Amino acid sequence: MGRIIAVANQKGGVGKTTTCVNLAASLAATQRKVLVIDLDPQGNATMASGVDKYQVDATAYDLLVEETPFNDVVIKDTTGGYHLIAANGDVTAAEIKLMEVFAREVRLRSALATVRDDYDYIFIDCPPSLNLLTINAMTAADSVLVPMQCEYFALEGLTALMDTISKLTAVVNSELKIEGLLRTMFDPRNRLANEVSQQLKKHFGDKVYRTVIPRNVRLAEAPSHGRPAMYYDKYSSGAKAYLALAGEMIRRDELALQTVTPVDA
Ligand code: ADP
Ligand code: MG
Repeated sequence: MGRIIAVANQKGGVGKTTTCVNLAASLAATQRKVLVIDLDPQGNATMASGVDKYQVDATAYDLLVEETPFNDVVIKDTTGGYHLIAANGDVTAAEIKLMEVFAREVRLRSALATVRDDYDYIFIDCPPSLNLLTINAMTAADSVLVPMQCEYFALEGLTALMDTISKLTAVVNSELKIEGLLRTMFDPRNRLANEVSQQLKKHFGDKVYRTVIPRNVRLAEAPSHGRPAMYYDKYSSGAKAYLALAGEMIRRDELALQTVTPVDA
């Protein structure tokens, strides 16, 4: 069954969208079936996937508010080789309209119930705030992947996010797990970054991915060319890092599988 992973951090500009798009493309390149759901009205993940947010017929708004069937909303042709639920300014209205509807927190979970088996991985790109859209993402998800920059207030922000997650867990999704913490825009020459990185490993142990995403200009340029970094400059350190992250994720999943399915001697 497909795993649903919310990519979240209430801080903006930490690499949520970059991670969604590039990790999804890397997994899709290994023949995994991947879906990206853009829940940010800015539509950055949509544009970075080569889909013009101003030209789309339907978005996450239709899926969540209008209850348009998934198959009428999903876009199968992206530059990253994954499927996409797009977002644009309309999704801002979803945030407000959702207030009025029945079972407003579980809209996304219901919309995905019948299609999750069609995918190996479903990534939800969350907006940088804790609104009903993020709550829908956390309610639908099995786990949360947290991209973060190793800077001075990073741990404080992380504590706030963990707090939110445990509160939500208590109310709407008792199964929600931490998928992993991802160090993004990392500069190994920066002493503070290394210190924060050490603290992170001390607090969160092997929840911290071994793979580190370096600061790399190709990752920042690729979205304006409407494609993930691996299809913009496959030799860039950014593209390679996200491929490595995909490998780490697959290995973790295989290990988890081995521990639940005993192999016959
Ligand atoms: P968020 O979705 O959390 O707001 P983004 O993924 O949009 O963050 O990243 C914020 C900005 O930083 C974007 O302009 C993006 O292109 C850039 N960026 C993200 N990751 C990296 C990286 N590893 N190296 C260089 N620039 C990056
Ligand atoms: Mg974003």
